[in-house]
Amino acid sequence: AFSLVWLRNDLRIYDHQALFEACQAGLPVVALFIATAQSWQQHDMAAMKQDLIRRRVLQMQTELAALNIPLLAVEGSDYAAVPQLMQQLVDAGASALYAHTEYELRERVRDQKVSRVFANAGKHCYWFDRKAVMPPGSILSKTGGIYQVFTPFKKNWLAHLRQTGVTCFAKPKVMPKVKLHLPELPLMALGDGSSLAYAVAESEVLERMRQFCRDKVAYYQTERDFPALDGTSGLSAYIAIGVISAQQCISRLQLEAANDWDREKSGAAVWLSELVWRDFYHHILVAFPELIKHKAFQKDTDAIIWPNNNALFHAWCEGKTGYPIVDAAMRQLNQTGWMHNRLRMIVASFLVKDLHIDWRWGERYFMSKLIDGDFAANNGGWQWAASTGTDAAPYFRIFNPVTQSERFDPDGVFIKRMLPELADLPKKQIHWPHPLPLWSQYVKPVVDHSKARLKTLELFHTVKKPQ
Ligand code: FAD
Repeated sequence: AFSLVWLRNDLRIYDHQALFEACQAGLPVVALFIATAQSWQQHDMAAMKQDLIRRRVLQMQTELAALNIPLLAVEGSDYAAVPQLMQQLVDAGASALYAHTEYELRERVRDQKVSRVFANAGKHCYWFDRKAVMPPGSILSKTGGIYQVFTPFKKNWLAHLRQTGVTCFAKPKVMPKVKLHLPELPLMALGDGSSLAYAVAESEVLERMRQFCRDKVAYYQTERDFPALDGTSGLSAYIAIGVISAQQCISRLQLEAANDWDREKSGAAVWLSELVWRDFYHHILVAFPELIKHKAFQKDTDAIIWPNNNALFHAWCEGKTGYPIVDAAMRQLNQTGWMHNRLRMIVASFLVKDLHIDWRWGERYFMSKLIDGDFAANNGGWQWAASTGTDAAPYFRIFNPVTQSERFDPDGVFIKRMLPELADLPKKQIHWPHPLPLWSQYVKPVVDHSKARLKTLELFHTVKKPQ
């Protein structure tokens, strides 16, 4: 008999409660990962993210082998195939399942089915809630309600942190070597290599996080909004698939920035705030599961009839709108699978409020490209930008892409990096190079911002009272 640890979006060894508890239980431990390419496709998971997962799982096989824990990396097509695979493992001697809970709908249905497989065999599943730092449901208003606004949520969240701190679980000790007879399951396929720019050794990722907390977090507040600078942690891809946990980030932050993490407006406190946003969106998703069915949080906005012009949508996807900051940002996404947060806000606002395209089109496109794609954060970010979500930007406050560009890429350094066709333009024209210089291969603007802005107000006025 053995204990089975099912790995999902928690591809790490340190601070892995399920793995830790399984190793404490006394039986030999077997880890399992099931790749589900069809379900990933259905969720629009980016090829780069899929590749990162597959590479990380292989690496983890080596890391776990050093602890005498075999990791079965299985190709399992889709979620529907999972219960049957679990049944095979139960038949082979899995006497209990250890895993972390997930918050999305199809994942929860899948996990309930797996729980049933174990229950039917008289075996237990141990589920641990570790995806958010504070488990959903634990941060409630005085009247027991869900916070729908970030600031009071954060205040309460910080009070919890001060009171309880964060717990991180140690790396399990080396297990005794045992010979187990495990079933022959289809081997996980290799990825396409598109994520090779990302290291997958846990020690390297941990070191990167530590370095950020030690050397860079103090400058986060002043640098984080400028896409030309390397001012943010760049850890999102790892946090999304769980190579490191948000708990580890916070625990390290508290160690490195002992006097600062709780000092308002310090770099450390502002970085912590971003991790609180992450928790906020997870909590919202659990409390309002209809979000996963593509409903707007502010229901009245679902009545807006978006013009959804296909040609404009494609111009946006390809970075050919004639707005340099938008096009540079979209090329960053298409080329690297990552986009700076300030730019995510700018291009999301542009798609919805300048091109009048349903935010769900953009949400989906982001998901299909982002190496850090995460449903809760992506949906939260899009609904925020579209003014349809919790604590969203008011609909009448509309980003001006040119002003944003002047403010956050003042010298056009980022634009020129991504759009070499504009490299020779002087600083003054880089944000709005129209009419175009004769030599330029760049595109004409696809819309006029001031007219588009008025149209957005009209669209919202059809469903909301003017304020
Ligand atoms: P840092 O600034 O170093 O932040 C540290 C960590 O905090 C991030 O790695 C991330 O885990 C978390 N975080 C930061 N900002 C947010 C936020 N606003 N909401 C939730 N978590 C946050 N983030 C994703 O992880 N996945 C997504 O799919 C995603 N989609 C987004 C879509 C839109 C339209 C917008 C506006 C934002 C989105 N974000 C998403 C949030 C944010 O842009 C990224 O987390 C951030 O840019 C990642 O870079 P970083 O790791 O250097 O971040």
